[in-house]
Amino acid sequence: MNVAMLLEMAAMAGDGRVAVGPADGGATHAELLEHSRRVAGWIASTDAAHVCYLGGNGPDVVHLLFGSAVAGRPFVPLNYRLTRDQLRHLLERVAPAVVVTDDAMALPEIDVPGVTRVPLAAFRAAAAQTAVPDPVPEPDPDAVAVQIFTSGTTAAPKAATLRNRHLASYVLSSVELMTAAPDECALVSVPPYHIAGMIGLLTAVYAGRRIAPLPQFDAKAWVVHAREQRATHAMVVPTMLTRIIDVLEAEGETLPALRHLSYGGGRMPTPVIERALRLLPHVDFVNGYGLTETSSTIAVLGPQDHRDAIASSDPQVRARLASVGKPIPGVEIEVRDPAGRVVGPGERGEIHVRGPQVAGEYAGTSVLGPDGWFATKDAGHIDADGYLFLDGRLDDVIVRGGENVPPGEVEDVLVAHPAVAEAAVVGLPHVEWGETIVAAVVRKPDAQVSGEELREWVRGRLRSSRTPERVVFVDALPYTDSGKLLRRVLRAELAAG
Ligand code: ATP
Repeated sequence: MNVAMLLEMAAMAGDGRVAVGPADGGATHAELLEHSRRVAGWIASTDAAHVCYLGGNGPDVVHLLFGSAVAGRPFVPLNYRLTRDQLRHLLERVAPAVVVTDDAMALPEIDVPGVTRVPLAAFRAAAAQTAVPDPVPEPDPDAVAVQIFTSGTTAAPKAATLRNRHLASYVLSSVELMTAAPDECALVSVPPYHIAGMIGLLTAVYAGRRIAPLPQFDAKAWVVHAREQRATHAMVVPTMLTRIIDVLEAEGETLPALRHLSYGGGRMPTPVIERALRLLPHVDFVNGYGLTETSSTIAVLGPQDHRDAIASSDPQVRARLASVGKPIPGVEIEVRDPAGRVVGPGERGEIHVRGPQVAGEYAGTSVLGPDGWFATKDAGHIDADGYLFLDGRLDDVIVRGGENVPPGEVEDVLVAHPAVAEAAVVGLPHVEWGETIVAAVVRKPDAQVSGEELREWVRGRLRSSRTPERVVFVDALPYTDSGKLLRRVLRAELAAG
């Protein structure tokens, strides 16, 4: 199975509904297939080994994704906020390449040998004039479909290689062909250079759900777009959800058309998801945990678990709102200790994963174990009922006086304080304790609270060894463009200050 076949099957099974664009006038699945084949013909006429895209969400991303798949050349979506030097560094790794650029955005210059910049308008014109290749190429399932540079939250971005079979097996296991109701619409606002954005496009096409892309995320624009497009499905990262809820609460309105909201890509603070569940009780919430290297989601906490947790008085059931649920079909997850032994329920260790969607490959070099297991570098545990809980990246777990402190636990308590808008907790080196706990806090507008009051608030709710030694008030926390907290940046800032 390859990525192009996902679209071919959707086009064959399609009933003429719109695949991408406005409900009246967007392209049907058959039109999308035909256009993607023209794009493939255009790609074949270049000497590019990789097809890159630099810009926001839009129908062109879908055309390039499937066009590259038909042509059998890897698609490389790039982060449009990169500096010129960062971009040059990534492009040198994929040359010879074409880079289709959205020149309506302020983008850095591209001056890398072997890399040709093609403005969006020129790409559209060239593709429209290209004939559908005859015969249409049939890409190898083992060929590289996509190369995504990871968010770079822990180190420099890594070039995660995803082959056709990895992406196709994820899509086939997570959605069924053309089973979306005809009025379903997916609002895609996660940037295309993030795995969740790309998977959102593939699953929507295969399920037959119209894609309504939002070029760039902004909470107010998202809410307006969701209403205008009557979006029924959406995927957000936690920071996006926090801001969307702020907008909805300020308006005093909800989103009646929305049915399904999945979130992931980073830790969701429990107080935020509790607010969302109360505000949007008609919506099915899904927490999806995954990595770029695993073709996105490997475990989910589904809608029923969310409803049970919010309605229950049993603390164990309520605590599941902080869990990422259970492995999806076809995926195995284990927690192992540093010696590589699988640990029992409740014991903490490193999360390992295996399954047909797990690529575990960087720039063509596999890092999978001999038995196909991938070490995620995430810390966590599985409880007696099989629910997976994350403690964050192994490197983010604070070791204070020999005790492991998952930063998220402290962050949840801080965010539950009425004066706190956002909080992030990191460990800083300390001679006596190994590490001390430092909290960076963004106060709500006009709210007053002191560091000592917040320390007292945590002390009353968690064991005393988890109380931050220091609380620092900041105007904003550092995030990547896809909304992920940059802990290493925060750690450096706090260490310097
Ligand atoms: P890099 O690998 O370059 O440091 P990154 O870790 O941000 O960047 P991604 O593949 O974008 O790379 O993100 C995967 C990580 O995001 C996971 O390893 C996990 O730590 C975190 N994550 C993903 N989904 C969830 C979720 N639902 N809940 C909590 N954390 C999540």
